[in-house]
Amino acid sequence: MATELDIRNALASLKGPDGTTPFLRSGVLGGVAIQGEKVYVSLIAEPQNAKAIEPLRQAVEDQVKGVPGVSGALVTLTAERPQGSAPAPGPKAAAATARAMVPGIKHIIAVASGKGGVGKSTTAANLALALKDTGLTVGILDADIYGPSLPKLFGLSGKPQVRDGKIMIPLEGYGVKVMSIGFLIEEEAPMIWRGPMVMSALQQMMREVDWGTLDVLVVDMPPGTGDAQLTMAQSVPLAGAIIVSTPQDLALIDARRGVAMFKRVEVPILGVIENMSYFLCPECGTRSDIFGHGGARHEAERLGVPFLGEIPLHMEIREKSDAGLPVVATDPDGPHAKLYRGIAEQIKARLEGGAAPRTMPRIVIE
Ligand code: ADP
Repeated sequence: MATELDIRNALASLKGPDGTTPFLRSGVLGGVAIQGEKVYVSLIAEPQNAKAIEPLRQAVEDQVKGVPGVSGALVTLTAERPQGSAPAPGPKAAAATARAMVPGIKHIIAVASGKGGVGKSTTAANLALALKDTGLTVGILDADIYGPSLPKLFGLSGKPQVRDGKIMIPLEGYGVKVMSIGFLIEEEAPMIWRGPMVMSALQQMMREVDWGTLDVLVVDMPPGTGDAQLTMAQSVPLAGAIIVSTPQDLALIDARRGVAMFKRVEVPILGVIENMSYFLCPECGTRSDIFGHGGARHEAERLGVPFLGEIPLHMEIREKSDAGLPVVATDPDGPHAKLYRGIAEQIKARLEGGAAPRTMPRIVIE
């Protein structure tokens, strides 16, 4: 197993953010935590400097990955300096690292919508499965605390097991780890949650769950853009957000609010998905644009955010979702699974900072 000294030695050759001060003396190293073959490093940076420090973050990750005995490295940014320390190692630093991120989870992404009923949860569930199909390890967290629907979508029931009196073991559906408040409460129980309770429930479901090692945790957000959603967007270390909208004008106004909300808390928009985009008659093959069509694509272009794709309004999607048999898992060769996988590929590419986006963000001058 690598030691902290090994990690520090590997980082000794790097320069700090100013390009001249040795990295280890630049004060940017928050902490190092080692769990078996996985190493977690936190770098201290103000949120507005996140972009500028990204090459350094990547360089640190590469160096750490090269240390013998390390199989995975996760380097995150935190605005918090470990208490009473210059770049100090040890348990305090590790605690700060744990606050800033969820250890073992590489990317957390939100699936959000400006309002309810647009198919956000259906999209989140199928996207999680499609991301898994691209070779990633995936979990999904139902943060839609007002109307948790992931248990139904994944056909799961029962309570999660608890380890050490505190850590919940997520359930698993079609190879994806699933956690939902729906597992913990009766379906008929009144869901009157006040803001702070929602927040602590979410934090608990994210941090006191044995997610293991995940490439992506998909968070199915509560619909809307109110205070609860804003606080949630702020308190979860999100790598990006996906906005689901239907094509009609009214839904688009809400989707626009969603984009604005994430921009306000500096969460990158991974893209917009148009759900219930068009209807293909299963009998005659005729296409009808029930809610209009192309509105979300147009809106995404106007807002300068990527457009990820269109999912049709189709009976199979509804029937399978409601029966706990999501199309991506149960009809993987069907046309709908292909659409979700196409979107998942784009998300994966964006998360890994690789391939060029299909729709280049445009600069819009208003
Ligand atoms: P939200 O999370 O936005 O409230 P849901 O995912 O619960 O929405 O979807 C609402 C209803 O619409 C569900 O019955 C679901 O099966 C159905 N639905 C979602 N997307 C589609 C689609 N593309 N085609 C047909 N039905 C859909």
